[in-house]
Amino acid sequence: MNTLEIISQPPIPEHLIGEVQSKLAYVDEVICKAQISKDGQKIILEVNRPVDELLRQRVEEKIQRVVTTMTQGSFRPKVQVLEDNMSAPTLNTNDPMPELMQRGELHCEADGIFTLGPLVTRLVEFFEDNFIALAATFDAQPYRFPVLIPARYLERVNYFKAFPHSLTFATHLREDLDAIDHFAQSACCDEHGDLNQLPESFAKIQALLSPAVCYHLYFALADKPLPGGKMIATAVGPCFRYESINLTSLERLWNFTMWELIFVGEKDFVLENREASRKYMAKAFEDIGLAYRVETANDPFFVGEFRKQAAFQSAFQLKYEIRANLPFKNSTLAVGSYNYHQDFFGRHLNITLPDGSPVHTGCTAFGLERMAYAFLSQYGLDIQKWPQTVKDYFGE
Ligand code: 5GP
Ligand code: ZN
Repeated sequence: MNTLEIISQPPIPEHLIGEVQSKLAYVDEVICKAQISKDGQKIILEVNRPVDELLRQRVEEKIQRVVTTMTQGSFRPKVQVLEDNMSAPTLNTNDPMPELMQRGELHCEADGIFTLGPLVTRLVEFFEDNFIALAATFDAQPYRFPVLIPARYLERVNYFKAFPHSLTFATHLREDLDAIDHFAQSACCDEHGDLNQLPESFAKIQALLSPAVCYHLYFALADKPLPGGKMIATAVGPCFRYESINLTSLERLWNFTMWELIFVGEKDFVLENREASRKYMAKAFEDIGLAYRVETANDPFFVGEFRKQAAFQSAFQLKYEIRANLPFKNSTLAVGSYNYHQDFFGRHLNITLPDGSPVHTGCTAFGLERMAYAFLSQYGLDIQKWPQTVKDYFGE
């Protein structure tokens, strides 16, 4: 592997190192690995071909653009911790991934695409049952949403601007006998698993794979008054966020499952319910023995949108993340979030309250694979060593 080192001028502030590092994956296709030194001065890249001056200049220019756009004029957001249960006594200090793979509990089909075996599946079901119980206390209406989402829907809520890097497009072959015959005869994958077909074979893109669950509800409510002026709904479904070289283990999947409780109505209705769901889950997490904290956070907006949007979210406390402890790497992982979108969807999708003003929305969302992974990181694979509530569910 070839290495390319770039000095960041000025150094990247400590609070932005993780945010900038996650964007380096999208700077240039030669980059296979990217690391920023702790002091924020050095960017170390592993690239897939020998480094000549031309390549260095090309990559360096783009990296500097990312760093400048994301960091110039930024200030450290004040992180507010709402719950701190990080000292819950957990038992395991190893990464559960190797044993899960070895036992066949996980099968990696490709980067970010995993099959879950019986133990992990039941653990996911256990968490899902907890969330279903949460939804029941809110008398939430159940919904089922499609995996595909029309491009024009995402366009309407500015998703292309905010998260272009993580989009996953759905297409099909053009309705043309020659194109279909040609595909049938010649389609094959190379050693990287890449299909050898040219873009001309494919139809124009009308749909994408859905990046979130709650969007589907807002689209179903669009362009009309909300009956009764309030609603609470729940749904679970697969979500897709392309994460390039950041796809690692169950921590970051291309295809993951999100469970959501969704609030639509007046501002106070949404905020009160978001808070009530947080309080309910605090008790549930205590029963499960999860080591975690809840703190203010921001979404991973792409480079150009990052500074303004992240600062806005943080200033108005629009997002709280549930960050579970990963003892084996002495860090945390976001397993869920409590979100308030203000009247963003109400305005963009023209969903109105009885007085004609736009609705406010919010959601409580959990990543099911991440929940299972965080739990296994804290308690290991031996059911006998798990907290009693979870053992009971497994009949132990
Ligand atoms: P959010 O709407 O806060 O971005 O996502 C809600 C939850 O979905 C996150 O807290 C996390 O648990 C899960 N999630 C988001 N992105 C990923 C991902 O790339 N991989 C996995 N496994 N879960 C994710
Ligand atoms: Zn949501």
